Amino acid sequence: MFLAPTPMDLAFAEAEAAFIRGEVPVGAVVVDVESGRLLARAGNCVREWSDPTAHAEMLALRTVAAAQAAPRLPGCDLYVTLEPCPMCAAAMALARIRRLYFGAYDPKGGGVEHGPRLFTWPTCHHWPEVYGGVQERRAAILLRRFFALRRPDHGAMSRVGGRSIRST
Ligand SMILES: [Zn+2]
Repeated sequence: MFLAPTPMDLAFAEAEAAFIRGEVPVGAVVVDVESGRLLARAGNCVREWSDPTAHAEMLALRTVAAAQAAPRLPGCDLYVTLEPCPMCAAAMALARIRRLYFGAYDPKGGGVEHGPRLFTWPTCHHWPEVYGGVQERRAAILLRRFFALRRPDHGAMSRVGGRSIRST
C-alpha cells in the first residue's frame, strides 16, 4: 500500500536538502488546517543568503503570510524537524498558528521546551498547541551526522598516515 508522505516527512525532505547545501539541517512546512493542503515548505538558508534569520520556520511562515496577504495564520499548523529557537517561537506566536509539531528537542538552542520557554511568558499573547518529539530520533540522527561532518577532527582530512594531525 502506498502511503502519502506526512507533513513531517516533507519537513524532513527539506532538512535533508538543507544538509546537502551545507546548512544546519532543519526543515519546516506549513499546512492549512481545514483542507490539509501544504502551503509552504522550506529549509534553512542562513549561509546561502547570509541571513541569520533565514531559519526554515521563518521562511515558511513568511511565504504563507505573503501568499495570504495576512500577518496572522490561525488556520495553519507548522511542522519543523527541530525544536524552534526563541526567534522562530516568537514568530509563531505573532502569526497565531494553531499547532506546532516539532521533531528533536533542542536543549541548547530551543526556545519552546528549553531556554526561555517563550510560550509561557505572560507577554506572549498566543501560544499554539505544541507537540514535540515527532520522529525525534530521525531528526537527532540527521543533526548528529551534520555536526559530526563539521568537526575538525573527522575523516581523512584531519588524519595523516593514520595519525591525527591535531597536537593534543
Ligand atoms: Zn529559529
